[in-house]
Amino acid sequence: MKKLFLYLFSLLSALLLLLSLSGCGKKESKTHYTLQICYDAEAHTLTGEQEITYTNTAEESLTELRLHLYPNAFRENAAIRPYHYGALARIFPDGVSYGGIEVTSVSVENEAVAATVTGEDMGILCVPLPEPLAPEKTARLHLQFTTTLPHARHRMGYTDRSVSLGNFYPILCIYENGAFVETPYYANGETFYSACADYDVTLSVPSAYKVAHAGVLTEKQEKGEQTVYRIEGESLRDFAAVFSREYGLLTASAGKVDVAYYHYGDSNPQQTLQAAVDAVLVYSALFGSYPYPSLTLATADFYQGGMEYSSLVYLSALNASEDLAAVALHEVAHQWWAIGVGSNPHRYHYLDEGLAEYSVALFYGEKPSYGVNEQEYAQKKRESYHSFLSVYEQVIGSPNTSMTRSVDEFRSETEYVSIAYDKGFLLMHSLRESMGKQRFLSGLKRYYKRNLFREARPEALFDSLNRASGYRASDIAASYLNGTAVI
Ligand SMILES: [Zn+2]
Repeated sequence: MKKLFLYLFSLLSALLLLLSLSGCGKKESKTHYTLQICYDAEAHTLTGEQEITYTNTAEESLTELRLHLYPNAFRENAAIRPYHYGALARIFPDGVSYGGIEVTSVSVENEAVAATVTGEDMGILCVPLPEPLAPEKTARLHLQFTTTLPHARHRMGYTDRSVSLGNFYPILCIYENGAFVETPYYANGETFYSACADYDVTLSVPSAYKVAHAGVLTEKQEKGEQTVYRIEGESLRDFAAVFSREYGLLTASAGKVDVAYYHYGDSNPQQTLQAAVDAVLVYSALFGSYPYPSLTLATADFYQGGMEYSSLVYLSALNASEDLAAVALHEVAHQWWAIGVGSNPHRYHYLDEGLAEYSVALFYGEKPSYGVNEQEYAQKKRESYHSFLSVYEQVIGSPNTSMTRSVDEFRSETEYVSIAYDKGFLLMHSLRESMGKQRFLSGLKRYYKRNLFREARPEALFDSLNRASGYRASDIAASYLNGTAVI
């Protein structure tokens, strides 16, 4: 008995030591954002007050912090714009409109500091710290800002039907490899790269609006003409919301996950909602549990098909109703790939887009009632990629099929989509065909579990697949990435 007790005691001690080394001790280092935002529907501005508690997780001291000012990409004299000229009519049906953000005060630990707007195109706020921030030490920032929304069908903007708040407030740049990642807001794809943080948001909007938002509502109060929403979110990569006077609302459950669909212009909203519910259930079974307690889908006036935020998905009102379910399947998959497991979408676009696209194929394989054959779906992707290659060859010449280019290095949106989405899909399909579906899925589960709420590089995916399969997934991947694979 004594021997057993000693054995159990040493086992327990070893477990406790392991737990203390394995991230549990890091919980308190997560960044916390407190955001108070008020929307002025006449001026189309947001006045905001923000407190950020940030712990330095780097190995060196920091003398400054840097934050993205994504709204500045919409300013009139921006050099790098978040849209191509070919998309102007779709984004600005009433003419080009501008926006931006003005940060009116910045303090650190209650001490005013002289922050500067800098970066490649005025998209970065540099906040000097009164004292160097040593590793594991915490700094508290306080900011006040005003964001002006453009009259635009974009991630951030207003139209006569909806108001979209995506990437609208200052958000900390990720510090990695000894530098802050300051990628501007480009027209192609996405460049948003932020660490998971806890959010406490107070959002005040005119009461005529219905509000779809990330996170979980904890309180709602009418104050005069405004309604004030208190919202909390744990481990969100960012906070976003959409509001409209026209929203209908449908709700459902996907296991323990509350799913809501705020919609207008969808002739079959129940079908779209059901697709989102099925997606949460299927992806949870295939990859690991959905990372949040709620998922909200929102119709938004948005020039592309959809957009993912943490626990919130935009579905564009420009989609045909019959396409919305398929768009939802892709955007919901991003809750695993881009949000749950973060990655730098500027450099590794194929990682989140390839996986999101491939998740849809896996979904169809699991749900024959949707009437899409998984192999035929893969064949269509191959045909789409080949037709891009053939058009490119005729118009421009020998195509560059390297996947390792950054978002801003593609000549056009079409080239970006063909490489990040179609070739990204074909890479995942080739890996799955080589190693077999079960091994491929075991690798994805491992990748998700080990990287949830962290930022991963492609090597982390290929390593998980290598380990799950015993195959050299990374060798197959290398030939796709460098453009030598014959597809
Ligand atoms: Zn996507």
